[in-house]
Amino acid sequence: MKFVLRCLRNSSCRRASISECGRHGDKTLETPMCMLYTRGGNAPYLGSDMFKKIQSLPFMAMVSLTHWAEHADVLAEYQKGVAKFSSMEDFLFYCCTHDTATEVPQGYNEKSGVAVWSRGGKIKVDVPSFMKIQEALQPDWYQALSDGDTSETSSDKRVQKAVDRTLAFLDEILAEHRKMERLKNSEVFGVIEGGYNIEERLRSAKETAARPVSGFTIGGFHNIGLKSGDRTIEDVGEIVKKTISTLPEDKPRLMSSLWGPDSILEGIEQGLDIFDTSYPLKMSFNHDKFIEHNSGAGFHIDLNHKRYCEDFGPVLENCSCYTCQRFSRAYINHLLNTSELLAGVLLSLHNLHHYLEYFESIRCALSEDTFDELKTLIKKQKPETVDTSD
Ligand SMILES: [Zn+2]
Repeated sequence: MKFVLRCLRNSSCRRASISECGRHGDKTLETPMCMLYTRGGNAPYLGSDMFKKIQSLPFMAMVSLTHWAEHADVLAEYQKGVAKFSSMEDFLFYCCTHDTATEVPQGYNEKSGVAVWSRGGKIKVDVPSFMKIQEALQPDWYQALSDGDTSETSSDKRVQKAVDRTLAFLDEILAEHRKMERLKNSEVFGVIEGGYNIEERLRSAKETAARPVSGFTIGGFHNIGLKSGDRTIEDVGEIVKKTISTLPEDKPRLMSSLWGPDSILEGIEQGLDIFDTSYPLKMSFNHDKFIEHNSGAGFHIDLNHKRYCEDFGPVLENCSCYTCQRFSRAYINHLLNTSELLAGVLLSLHNLHHYLEYFESIRCALSEDTFDELKTLIKKQKPETVDTSD
């Protein structure tokens, strides 16, 4: 995998490209970017024919052990990997441990393995079973197994244990990875753990960077699950920034979570390169939100509100997405009120389109050195309070 830094703004905001990776070595990914969040290989509400029509869609999708740990035997039998199995061969796949839109119960990780919560309940994943799953999935990139069960209240001893376990998992994984023919084109991302303890974060970063990993995933903040949507990267900003500043410049840094538009800019300022689309899809799960970032009216429009029942204008002026080109706010309001499944489909199409265009704007701002102006614009639009009136 080749990571080329195109430009650096404000000493840490990176515009880069990634090529020569996985099954699509001839294509290039531009960062900052976000991966398509999927559940088991498909974006919620959208069939592959639908989401492939979304402009600016990166050819990188994300799957998690949450959805595959208990079905890996099927994929092992199939032998051709998750991309072909889910009819998404045009996409590269990144496999993470936990679904970013699902809360992970605390207190179940052990020295020998990590608890993954699938539909059927808890599954203990140790390194041998983890490698079997990766061999069945055949992802282009995968996140090494790690103990990220650390929060603000975790003791120093617990955090130290998390870092030690994660490094031990990584060593075992790298040794196994080299022996596996089916993973010969896959890249391993090392996970930086250490919770809220800066010394342990720095130790984790230094030790992980000393190993032959292709990129870095920042874990261990318990920042996943739908309830985490109100958190911002600012909450953990200083730790992330100090940690990232010790990592080598020539490898990508990834942090999955439900990050809103302002958090994405914060993350880029801290040196992150890769995010995912679980935030716009979370807005669609809520069934009443549309993301927007350039009308001066805040980040969301609540189309459930009765004020939209006779609003025959497009959802967002000047938006070129499938939904905005064909349907009015009043129609979406009607679909929401009658609990039609189509509401989720149309919401997802717009939200994904708009979020991906936002990343395009960020890349453009970095290239043209207008990142600070974009940040000022986004800050102005951040809603002070949520309008819950009817
Ligand atoms: Zn739209």
